[in-house]
Amino acid sequence: MNLFSENKPVIIAGPCAIENENFLYKTALSVKKSGADILRGGAFKPRTNPANFQGLGLPALEMLHDIGKEVNLPTVTEVIDTRDVDMVNRYVDILQIGSRNMYNYILIKEAAKTGKPILFKRGLSSTLNEWLQISEYISNEGNMNIIFCERGIRTFETATRNTLDLNIVPLLKQMINFPVIVDPSHGTGNSSLVTPMAQAAIACGADGLMVEVHCEPEKALCDGDQSLTLDEFAILMKNVRKIYIALGDDFIL
Ligand code: PEP
Ligand code: MN
Repeated sequence: MNLFSENKPVIIAGPCAIENENFLYKTALSVKKSGADILRGGAFKPRTNPANFQGLGLPALEMLHDIGKEVNLPTVTEVIDTRDVDMVNRYVDILQIGSRNMYNYILIKEAAKTGKPILFKRGLSSTLNEWLQISEYISNEGNMNIIFCERGIRTFETATRNTLDLNIVPLLKQMINFPVIVDPSHGTGNSSLVTPMAQAAIACGADGLMVEVHCEPEKALCDGDQSLTLDEFAILMKNVRKIYIALGDDFIL
């Protein structure tokens, strides 16, 4: 499966965290209908505050696997602990290394050894150079399936959760031959900014997007403020499609 070989952006969508079967199923069915290519959902959440929802773990992996099959979408989830790599590998098609673990070399190597594609998020405060060097821990394991994901960086600006660094998209694409995608959900932290920044990401050449979508964002246990409703996601898909159709042959993948 190489979704990135087609001449269109690859869209990953789903909830920040998997909370129950009903929410995940409703969301999965709807994002599939709107044209998403990959289903996301967190089973293990790296939360700053230990009192916050940490994810359901194994039951969430089972739900993601079963619902992914049912709606016919490949799946991605984050792995945060080397001890979980084998288990996560059994349930999903793509392993995500989250921003907070971009410097976790041991975890990255273990995840790379599975041979599955690695969705490699940029660290909260990491430079392009660090991101690129550390990605070699993946390629050194013989795993050339690396998907770079820009998800916003920390700057002096506090009006948005992060500052989405779209400069990095064309710059990275000049330097490497791996897909580069953008996560405007964590990049902005605000659902009203997600679609405009998704359009901007596609306009500057991103190979895809990762977007948090929830059937009832107000009930989300994690990142509800930045999660699109099912209808909002359908609009995002339409708008994004307009951008890459407008770019035509100039849409560089
Ligand atoms: C996520 O995608 O669920 C996530 C936690 O993102 P990040 O690692 O970019 O904060
Ligand atoms: Mn999230």
